[in-house]
Amino acid sequence: MIINTARFVTSSPSVEKCPDSSMHEYAFIGRSNVGKSSLINMLTGRSGLAMTSSTPGKTMLINHFIINDTWQIVDLPGYGYAQRSKADRAKLEKMIKGYIINRPQMTNLFLLVDGRLKPQKIDLEFMEWLGENGVPFSIVFTKLDKLSSTAAKKMTGDYCATLLETWEQLPPVFRTSSTDRRGREAILDYIEEMNALPL
Ligand code: GDP
Repeated sequence: MIINTARFVTSSPSVEKCPDSSMHEYAFIGRSNVGKSSLINMLTGRSGLAMTSSTPGKTMLINHFIINDTWQIVDLPGYGYAQRSKADRAKLEKMIKGYIINRPQMTNLFLLVDGRLKPQKIDLEFMEWLGENGVPFSIVFTKLDKLSSTAAKKMTGDYCATLLETWEQLPPVFRTSSTDRRGREAILDYIEEMNALPL
């Protein structure tokens, strides 16, 4: 898919405040610092679209971007930032889960995990919750340029093998790097396929 236009729409504090739209929406989520903003910028080819932040865990808003005037990217706040207060964590969880459950146009959730790390409890628990609620999601391994190609294959393969210990089948899996842009076409093709389906 060629990205002709990509623009920021708005930031919303809750699903109730999200903009009305009948377009397909693709949400991106992951632990703070996983590389979510960089991935959104890499996919859209707009380096400043999603704000990469040197202060992890800062944003607590749902950000909408409209792409090619036909579909939307939703940048959800990062989770798992240790220095957040308990009250903020609860608020964040409510916001994220509220959006995921109550946004019927959300066609797929891209769950980002750092390709250099073994499966993290917080991500596995979140996947469990997605499964229990029948949420369509995919896994995106990030920062794979930081590993040799052998190590990248092994880490992501081991990760998938761990998932298969509890999951009957794997969700779609994408291997990416925002630095060398690997995985870009695969994700955009996947979105294009789903855009062709009725909402
Ligand atoms: P976010 O908090 O999930 O939005 O993460 P950011 O996109 O702000 O990235 C966090 C840090 O990881 C930044 O210093 C990025 O430059 C770096 N980073 C993100 N993606 C990649 C990647 O694919 N490769 C490399 N080498 N660094 C990355």
